[in-house]
Order: sequence, then C-alpha cells, then structure tokens
Amino acid sequence: MKYRLSDILACPMCRAFPLTLEVFERRTIQPPQKIRKCELYCSYHGGYISQLRETDCHTCYSYEISEGILRCGSCGRWYPITGDIPRMLPDDMRDKKLDNMFLSRWGSHVKP
Ligand SMILES: [Zn+2]
Ligand SMILES: [Zn+2]
Repeated sequence: MKYRLSDILACPMCRAFPLTLEVFERRTIQPPQKIRKCELYCSYHGGYISQLRETDCHTCYSYEISEGILRCGSCGRWYPITGDIPRMLPDDMRDKKLDNMFLSRWGSHVKP
C-alpha cells in the first residue's frame, strides 16, 4: 500500500481516524506522473496536513509498503498489511490463519 492510503482509512470497528502506520518492509517504486496529495493526514510525514510545513506528498508515492500494520489508537486493534495489501476487516471477518501467519513473522513488532 501507499502511505497516501492512510489519508482515507479509518478503523473498521470504531471508525477512529487516523490510524498509526508502522512499516516493517517497504520498497522504492517509480511514482506516477500525477499524484493526489494527502488531504487531511499524511502518514509519511506523520501529521495532519494543516499542521505540516511540508505538504509535497511526492515521497508518499515513492514507496510501496509491503509489510506492516495499521494500529488504532482508540480501540487498540491492529490490522496487518501483507503482500502490499492492508487487511481492514472487522473482528468477525478477520482471517485467523492470516493473522497467525503474520504474527509468527512479525509478532515482536506487532506486540512489543
Ligand atoms: Zn502524504
Ligand atoms: Zn479502532
């Protein structure tokens, strides 16, 4: 996923926004010609746009986050990002097998 996505993702359980992005693995990619700047919250710069001096979000698009989590500061849940895709599912739809595989690889990062 791109950093940019944090600008639109909310917690599927409690609707809190923004979520905290923790990156475990990322790679550099060629950003597209046209980018849409983060509008409310930029997870690359780690703050609300209104409070950031730097609002050039070109760098947001220069990375693909392959592994990481999105953490909700409100309810404490975490959502895995794996294989470039954030899995934003409510509790009853979570993939337990995927969660376990993810935890066996990244558990020390997920639960410090
Ligand atoms: Zn940004
Ligand atoms: Zn939440």
